[in-house]
Amino acid sequence: MHLLNADLHSHSNVSDGTLGPEQLAARANANGVELWSLTDHDEISGQARARDAALALGMRYLSGTEISVSFAGQTVHIVGLGFDIDDAALAAGLAATRGGRRERALAMAAGLAAAGIDGAFDGALRYVDNPELVSRTHFARFLVERGVCADTHEVFRRFLTEGRPGYVPHRWAGLGDAVRWITAAGGIAVIAHPARYRFTPTEEYALFTEFIAHGGRGVEVMTGSHSAAEQQRYAETALEFDLFASRGSDFHAAGESRTELGALPDLPGRLRPVWEALAARVQGG
Ligand code: AMP
Ligand code: MN
Ligand code: MN
Ligand code: MN
Repeated sequence: MHLLNADLHSHSNVSDGTLGPEQLAARANANGVELWSLTDHDEISGQARARDAALALGMRYLSGTEISVSFAGQTVHIVGLGFDIDDAALAAGLAATRGGRRERALAMAAGLAAAGIDGAFDGALRYVDNPELVSRTHFARFLVERGVCADTHEVFRRFLTEGRPGYVPHRWAGLGDAVRWITAAGGIAVIAHPARYRFTPTEEYALFTEFIAHGGRGVEVMTGSHSAAEQQRYAETALEFDLFASRGSDFHAAGESRTELGALPDLPGRLRPVWEALAARVQGG
């Protein structure tokens, strides 16, 4: 039996994807996605375009974003789904979260210059469509273009992660703030790709319990960056903490993303899909 083909995590060129919201909608639809969400980093300016394109193609749509949060010395991503896209407090919170990205990018470029790679700020900017959202991904594409690395994963490993020359620590939103912006706007907050963090068991337990205490209600189980064992592990975590489960490819770009839109396995049947809790917020269909 097939569940709904829901893909509730993807990026357009409003953040660090390469396709416009309309092109992404078309790709999702061609891949059989029935319920879609565009979840740009710290941004919702693509939401109306994504929704209109999805509905015109006969897909259903949930509003989305992926908020960068600092927690226990690491960056954690919180996906928000099904919120009111006109909510003023959410918009202000996202704008504040985006605020330091340009200065951070200048500092990253300085670090890369010290490692012998010149012109990275202007080089990365050529890949940016939204001037408020310069991301490490744009730097990675530039370093591949320069021939410094073979692919973006190698760039992250060698240049853009902690301890590497282009890495600059950054203070993002607070966990409680991000969860409250989403929840107060009528949405559900979801912990994105939990297996990608490097927490101790104690820190991970703190993340989940604090997230829930702030009103968070979901966790991604099926995501493009989880192995089969990690999918299993976080299915158990969803049950343990009584969280809704989400499914999303985290698609950014063809030839760069590991997983295509709509191509993940179904959620295990014993989990409660997050879209069932958001039925009243789904548009279209
Ligand atoms: P930023 O928000 O500027 O810190 O950039 C974070 C983005 O970088 C993530 O959303 C991913 O798209 C990308 N990213 C992070 N780590 C990796 C990696 N190891 N390989 C490829 N892309 C990555
Ligand atoms: Mn990204
Ligand atoms: Mn993420
Ligand atoms: Mn993402």
